[in-house]
Amino acid sequence: QPTTQQDYINLEDRYGAHNYHPLPVVLARGQGAKVWDTDGKEYLDFLSAYSAVNQGHCHPKIVGAMVEQAQTLTLTSRAFYNDKLGPYEEFVTRYFGFDKVLPMNTGAEAVETALKLARKYAYEVKGIPENEALIIVCENNFHGRTTTIISFSNDENARRSFGPYTGGFLRIPYDDLGALEAALNAHAGRVAGFLVEPIQGEAGVYVPQEGYLSGAKALCEQHGALFIADEVQTGIARTGKRLAVDHENVKPDILILGKALSGGAYPVSAVLADDAVMNVIRPGQHGSTFGGNPVAGAVAVAALTVAEDEGLAERAEALGQKFRSALSEYVAQSRVAKLVRGKGLLNAVVINDHEDSDTAWNICLKMAERGLLAKPTHGNIIRFAPPLVISEADLERGIRIITDTLREFEG
Ligand code: PMP
Repeated sequence: QPTTQQDYINLEDRYGAHNYHPLPVVLARGQGAKVWDTDGKEYLDFLSAYSAVNQGHCHPKIVGAMVEQAQTLTLTSRAFYNDKLGPYEEFVTRYFGFDKVLPMNTGAEAVETALKLARKYAYEVKGIPENEALIIVCENNFHGRTTTIISFSNDENARRSFGPYTGGFLRIPYDDLGALEAALNAHAGRVAGFLVEPIQGEAGVYVPQEGYLSGAKALCEQHGALFIADEVQTGIARTGKRLAVDHENVKPDILILGKALSGGAYPVSAVLADDAVMNVIRPGQHGSTFGGNPVAGAVAVAALTVAEDEGLAERAEALGQKFRSALSEYVAQSRVAKLVRGKGLLNAVVINDHEDSDTAWNICLKMAERGLLAKPTHGNIIRFAPPLVISEADLERGIRIITDTLREFEG
C-alpha cells in the first residue's frame, strides 16, 4: 500500500506509460480553486486541468447531478434514446445558438468529428470532388493527439515517428489574415474549412490581434469555407465571455467544445452546427459508445448552468484584468520575466530564456513548494489558468506566490 508521495510516483512510473511529464505532486482532493496532496498540503490550482475545471473542483451542483444520474442510469449507448440526452441537446444548442449538437467525450474526438463533418459537407453540399477537400489549419496549433490531428501539427515531438499521416491539410501562419486570404485564393473551390483556436492555448497562450477572428470568418464566408472554432480550451467563460469568439461577435459554422463543458467532472465534448451542416451526418457514419450518455448530459447541463448562475465569464474578465495588471507591474522591473499576456483567466508569463531551457519548469517546482500549481507550455512560458470561481483573496495570494517565486530567480 503506497503511503508517501514518492510511493505513488514510483507506481505511476513503474506501471504507467511515460506519456506525460508531471510535476512531482500527488493530488488526492480538490474543492473550488484548491487541491490537496496525499500529505494534506494545500495548493492553489492555477492550471485547472488545462482549463477544464472552470467551475472549480467538486462543485456541489455538478457533483450532485453526476451522482444522482450515476445512481439512476449510466449508459445505454445510442442504440436507444435516453431521458437526459434530448433535454441536454436542447439546452446546449439554445445556450450557444445552434440548431444541432453531436455529443462526444473528449476534445480530440470532437475535433475529429468536426473535420469529418466539414469534409462531408464539402463533398455533398459544395460539390468538391471526393478526396480533394482541404482544411486550412494554423502553425503551432494544438487540437489533440489522434493520428489525423498530429498529421497537421508542426510540433515535431508530438508528430515524429507516428506516420503515415492523414492528408488534406494546409498549414498557414496564425493571426495572419493575408495568409488566410492567399490560401483561400490559391485553393479556390477546394477549401472545406478553416480550423482555428480563437486563442492558441498550448502554443503559449497566444492572443491574436483584434479583428483576426471576425476577419477570418468574413474571408471564410466569401470563399464558401466553413469557419471551425476549437473552443475546447477557451470556451465556457474562460476568456471573459461564454466563448472566445464572442469577443468579436463571431458565430462559427462549427463549434467544438470539451473540457469545461463538464466542469472537469466527467469527459464530455460536443460539436455544434446548424442543420445545413449537421444534417450531412446520417446513421452509421459517426458515433461513440459513451458519447451522449445520460451522466454526460446531466453533468453538462449542471456545468453550463453553474457557469451562468455564478457569472463566471464576468469573474474571468474582472479577475483576469487584475492578474495581468499585477503581473505587468512585476514584469516591468524584472529581468527574469519578459511579458504577461492573455485574456480573461487564460494567461501566460513569458520568461527571459530560450524555448528549451528548464527555467519555467524550475519556477513551477518552486511555486509548487510555495503552494501554487502551474505548468509550463514551453521552457520559457508558464500558463496561469485558475478555476474561475477563485476568490479575489486567493487570486491575490496566487499573484504573491508567483511574484515571490520569480523574485527568487532574479539572482
Ligand atoms: N483542442 C484544444 C484547443 C485543446 O487545448 C485541447 C487539449 N489541451 C484539445 C483540443 C484536446 O482535448 P482532449 O485532451 O480532451 O482530447
